[in-house]
Amino acid sequence: MNTTVAFIGLGAMGYRMAAHLPKHFDTVYVWNRNFEKAKQHATEYKTQAVELEQAVQADIIFSCLPTSKDVEELIQTVTIKSGAIWIDCTSGVPESAQKLALELALKNVQFLDAPVSGQTIGAENATLTFMVGGSQTAFQIALPAMQAMGKLIKLVGQSGAGFAVKAVNNMMMAVHLCAAAEGFTTLKAHGVNLNEALDCINASSGKSGVTESVLPQRVFNRSFPLTFALPLLAKDTGIAVDLIRQAKLSAPVIGLTQSLIQNASNLAEPNSDFSTAVKMYESWSKITLD
Ligand code: NDP
Repeated sequence: MNTTVAFIGLGAMGYRMAAHLPKHFDTVYVWNRNFEKAKQHATEYKTQAVELEQAVQADIIFSCLPTSKDVEELIQTVTIKSGAIWIDCTSGVPESAQKLALELALKNVQFLDAPVSGQTIGAENATLTFMVGGSQTAFQIALPAMQAMGKLIKLVGQSGAGFAVKAVNNMMMAVHLCAAAEGFTTLKAHGVNLNEALDCINASSGKSGVTESVLPQRVFNRSFPLTFALPLLAKDTGIAVDLIRQAKLSAPVIGLTQSLIQNASNLAEPNSDFSTAVKMYESWSKITLD
């Protein structure tokens, strides 16, 4: 395709996501703050490592940074090509998306909040889910570029809606993680074999993504591989709590879960995977989930 595409932020997600773009687009620019990563990406995947000023001259610009604040600060430093579409795959703040969409529209740039789920393995296999907020027109133009990296791609509402869906999704995952940590600690305290219990629960109504993949693949084998950092999950639960406050709702489970995840993140070693949140429970109970 003649459309020029850029990817900004080659972290755990972005590095793998951008790798698929050259299969579908002739010109793919990549930029990363630590520029060595961009050069490495260009060597590995036939992308072009360029300065930020050039990256934002692409027709479609993806970003995937830790927070909306990082994206806002970066956007302030550049002049984006008129007519471009900016697709932000950061798990961000809905209000920030609304603000950026309005500000960029004045410069004839359309903004889509398009966070993803599916973890690094989904990025690697181009099977991510994109939950997109913004205009139908921009969504249709941007769809082929998102399809290069994703499987399920949904326009879920106006600006900010994509970020809202992502925050609520991750909050629900956090609730499941806390519930599973408490539940399996209880079972171990009662002398139950955890692997047999897991099989039963995964064939029963208490199952979740956490019991199906996080416990067996990260916790019970004590591998805790770093693919999604615990502070990023704490950031997402914080966004969900802000959404609840803004809507003046009462959501006690979510409020408590946010405190627990934030506390686990504060206690964790640097560069800890989100699954290490269970270690907080282990330190309280002196029971190891293995
Ligand atoms: P990483 O920490 O692995 O990567 C962050 C990237 O952002 C790096 O390329 C980093 O550059 C860059 N960066 C950080 N701060 C700035 C800044 N101020 N200015 C410019 N670039 C910056 O994060 P992930 O890839 O794991 O996550 C990215 C986003 O995707 C987050 O919002 C996260 O919540 C979300 N997400 C993550 C998933 C996962 O499984 N990891 C799954 C789904 C969503 P440098 O290399 O120079 O440090």
